Amino acid sequence: MKVTLWGTRGSLASAGPDTARYGGNTSCVEVLGAAGTRLILDAGTGIRRLGTTLPRPLRRVDLLLTHLHMDHIQGLGFFAPLYDAETEVHIWAPASPTLDLRAQLTRYLSPPLFPIPLRDLPGPLRLHEVAGGEFEIGEFRVTSAFVCHPGPTVGYRIASRDATLAYVPDHEPALGVQNFPLDGDWTSGYTVAAGVDLLIHDAQYSKDEYHSCIGWGHSSLEHTITFAELADVKHLVLFHYDPSHDDERLDRLITEAIASMTPSFTVTPAIEGMTLALGEV
Ligand SMILES: [Zn+2]
Ligand SMILES: [Zn+2]
Repeated sequence: MKVTLWGTRGSLASAGPDTARYGGNTSCVEVLGAAGTRLILDAGTGIRRLGTTLPRPLRRVDLLLTHLHMDHIQGLGFFAPLYDAETEVHIWAPASPTLDLRAQLTRYLSPPLFPIPLRDLPGPLRLHEVAGGEFEIGEFRVTSAFVCHPGPTVGYRIASRDATLAYVPDHEPALGVQNFPLDGDWTSGYTVAAGVDLLIHDAQYSKDEYHSCIGWGHSSLEHTITFAELADVKHLVLFHYDPSHDDERLDRLITEAIASMTPSFTVTPAIEGMTLALGEV
């Protein structure tokens, strides 16, 4: 599979000269299988540019949302295939106990927040609520599991015939844990990340910042590396950077965290536009 990072930023799009290198667009990742199945993970502002690169005509595209915080859906109204009557768009997202998925998405895709109501989109839109467990999309087997973050939020594990990817962009596995990490079975997110070839994971805070942000749903860089070590991943991509972390600060924080943790696997900071190949592409 081929994995492309279209948005690497967390919480709020942060365009500007100070963030140009790591990227200012919010969470969006494209996964393209060797047999042509295309998945899009989250619809942050990075999805707009991705939408302009997709082949036409496009019969089907599957969009997997981890949750409905604005930084993960804000690009949705600007995703070109939604306006193409020939393209079947499938949106997968965690089930909520209070509102169904259509009602949740309509809160954003309706006036006054957005001029075009969801119901007026021309193409066939298929909505799927996930509540943990497995499903198949084309050549991929997808596993979802609820993870520690405010509101219903899942992480995804995507397996092809010869490669595995885990995507957990918003995650606080250390919340409420005295001695993080506990063993795998008791650690949030472990089931989707265990043993994967590539883990794309929340890396929002520095170690010091985390202490004043406990319960906000994110990880320190040190917690991210500890979690990846516990899950025995082969490669970690640091993702979902805090909007206040400019390129220079990220360089420094990432270098310090890697030096202090000496991880036994490859660690790559996410950079907008980066492509990674896993197994057959
Ligand atoms: Zn987020
Ligand atoms: Zn979030």
